[in-house]
Amino acid sequence: MRCPRCGNDNDKVLESRSNREGTSIRRRRACQSCGHRFTSYERIEEKPIIVIKKDGRHQPFDISKVERGIRQCTEKLSITQNQIDTILRNIEDSIYDAAGTSNTVTSQQVGEETLKQLYPISRVAYVRFASVYRAFDDLDQFIEEIEKLATK
Ligand SMILES: [Zn+2]
Repeated sequence: MRCPRCGNDNDKVLESRSNREGTSIRRRRACQSCGHRFTSYERIEEKPIIVIKKDGRHQPFDISKVERGIRQCTEKLSITQNQIDTILRNIEDSIYDAAGTSNTVTSQQVGEETLKQLYPISRVAYVRFASVYRAFDDLDQFIEEIEKLATK
């Protein structure tokens, strides 16, 4: 795969992991030219899980978006790649379970599941993610969460 940083098509797969359902495989890759590490996803195309957003729009579930969000929230925190991988696998498994036969989840379910996974790993990442995910959409709920954290 082409390196997103330097554009060279010369990478090595460091690790491959499948989710519990066996419906997707996530690979950590390292560019042999510049050393940049990146992730690729492989999944069965015929049955994508659909995320229903608050405004009613539909979107295919994309774990790489969740990963981007988690990376932003864990920036400069001492969270390992292993921990991020575990979080992503747990989120994916829960979303597949929640989607069931209807094959749909709400964006709220994705957000809540991500928060649930972040909370035991890092309170800072949890609050950061909560602020991104709930900002403007549901400010009252966000303040409520912050207050709940403060009393713990
Ligand atoms: Zn590169």
